[in-house]
Amino acid sequence: MRLATTRVPKSKIPAGTFDPDYQYEIEARPDYPMSHWFGLTKEQFPPSERLTAEQLELMANEFEQLWATYSFEPDFPEVLPAKRRYELMRDYLDYECSHWPGGWVHHFEFCDYEPENCPFVSEFCHCKDFVYDDFNENPVVKDDDSLPF
Ligand SMILES: [Zn+2]
Repeated sequence: MRLATTRVPKSKIPAGTFDPDYQYEIEARPDYPMSHWFGLTKEQFPPSERLTAEQLELMANEFEQLWATYSFEPDFPEVLPAKRRYELMRDYLDYECSHWPGGWVHHFEFCDYEPENCPFVSEFCHCKDFVYDDFNENPVVKDDDSLPF
């Protein structure tokens, strides 16, 4: 993982400048799994059951540092345990996404505000609160493309 942090694709243009052709070139690029961007494979990471609590803490933090060097930002609930953070970031090695060089931050939300599909243990996530509000306070037809706030 340390090695992968040294292989972050660099922007071809200086920071703070704008080049419409380069912009177009990046937008036209296909998405790749995160494992491609990182040069890592999922097989390099053991399932969470095989790691101790200390190892999970270490690996989750290493994953977050790796993500940060690629400007990938996981939007985790504040107190999500290391085990779940590790599992999600490990699973996302298969997730296809774009990488924008030059420090463009790419947020990953994980949760679509559907408690039944919530990737977090629901006690850590706020999605169930939104549904509660929707049904009990302000019934609204949820637009699938927008967040309820
Ligand atoms: Zn949720």
